[in-house]
Amino acid sequence: MASEFVEKIMADVKAKNPAQPEFHQAVMEVVESLEIVLEKHPEYRNAKILERIIEPERVIMFRVPWMDDQGNIQINRGFRIEMNSAIGPYKGGLRFHPSVNLGILKFLAFEQVFKNSLTTLPMGGGKGGSDFDPKGKSDNEVMRFCQAFMSELFRHIGPNTDVPAGDIGVGGREIGFLFGQYRKIRNEFTGVLTGKGLNWGGSLIRPEATGYGAVYFASEMLATRGESLEGKTCLVSGSGNVAQYTTEKILDLGGKVITLSDSGGYIYDEEGIDREKLAFVMELKNVKRGRIKEYVDKYPNAVFTPVDPSKDYNPLWDHKADCAFPSATQNEINGKDAQNLLNNGVYVVSEGANMPTTPDGVNLFIEKGILYGPGKAANAGGVAVSGLEMAQNSMRYAWTREEVDNRLHQIMKNIHKSCVDAADRFGVPGNYVHGANIAGFLKVADAMMDQGIV
Ligand code: NDP
Repeated sequence: MASEFVEKIMADVKAKNPAQPEFHQAVMEVVESLEIVLEKHPEYRNAKILERIIEPERVIMFRVPWMDDQGNIQINRGFRIEMNSAIGPYKGGLRFHPSVNLGILKFLAFEQVFKNSLTTLPMGGGKGGSDFDPKGKSDNEVMRFCQAFMSELFRHIGPNTDVPAGDIGVGGREIGFLFGQYRKIRNEFTGVLTGKGLNWGGSLIRPEATGYGAVYFASEMLATRGESLEGKTCLVSGSGNVAQYTTEKILDLGGKVITLSDSGGYIYDEEGIDREKLAFVMELKNVKRGRIKEYVDKYPNAVFTPVDPSKDYNPLWDHKADCAFPSATQNEINGKDAQNLLNNGVYVVSEGANMPTTPDGVNLFIEKGILYGPGKAANAGGVAVSGLEMAQNSMRYAWTREEVDNRLHQIMKNIHKSCVDAADRFGVPGNYVHGANIAGFLKVADAMMDQGIV
């Protein structure tokens, strides 16, 4: 039962932001966590910090017209949500996916504010993207779309204003086209995007960072029980950037991955996805841009199960395992999936994706006291290394792979510790959801208090 305080805030949020269920969901979770903080700190309440954090500083929405290979004119919608810049320039990815809409990007931008604060780097929160679907498009079509998108976005961003990165559907190829157009229009070479190529300003370990970070976070959670990932069986969803490097790091640490997926279905490989099989998946997804079902053509002992929309659960989460790393998209683990995970012995969930678990699933994990690392904390490694890319760009200097990986590892340890400490301090020990929301909030709230009513 939500308290009167939570109900009042949520009623306002729903009235002001109708038809944005994902945004409501993300705000609700944070508001529930912060109630205990606001009770202890009436100064935040009086300054309406929470109400201000919920309202984006700026929302930009624009037309993106481009021409396909057949000469037809296509029109997509572009967005950038500049959510909060109290502790640094807006920072957050761009998502290109047909499901993209204002509510989804606002949920992502809102979460990004807390996540970026947790990294301890000076970054505000933002998010953007388009309902453009890169799937099935030629490289030339993707380039023309990216150029059209940047032809508007360029006027709103800059290395000290707003620094976008990748997300679903936006990888190295798209960042290259976006950067090229920005550089041409502005006539300047600057760190305006992260996730850049290595020979034009990118950082080593940026592609790996989100997945590696989610695994480092899981290791930290396990260490609180004196355990490690060695010998653990893991379920991973998705097969894109985050899923690939999550799998790689699990292998490095002696674990076994038995699933991967895409929007068509999932593969189950009882023998485990070893390095050779992972290299096949990387080539399949990053170069051939194929579908995960092709895995079973190459490795016939594995089983492919297509998505069945009539099912009210995802069978990927119904296998015996110790750990789960959801790495595809929001709300991919519902209450039934969460129960299936628990029934199958899973007691570590580290979220590579953003908000992959529905609220009833989250409540189940917390109730059962498993090691549950919410995306805000567990997947912050990606944006953390983006922050390191910005630092290297400012210095016009590049760190080695070891240096960046060590910094990433240390940042993930610090984030884990911040969550644990905040949860302890506010009387909810072991609750990483409250811990992440509270620790992320406090730094931004104090900066907003210092900077007045702006
Ligand atoms: P990619 O585009 O590289 O991969 C996304 C994967 O998830 C693909 O396998 C895709 O399948 C699958 N997927 C996407 N949408 C859906 C859907 N609606 N239903 C089923 N499967 C879906 O993206 P990333 O790996 O970069 O991102 C994955 C998640 O991680 C997202 O939630 C993102 O916000 C989050 N994240 C990413 C960060 C990064 O650095 N990249 C940083 C922090 C969080 P298909 O190809 O069939 O669409």
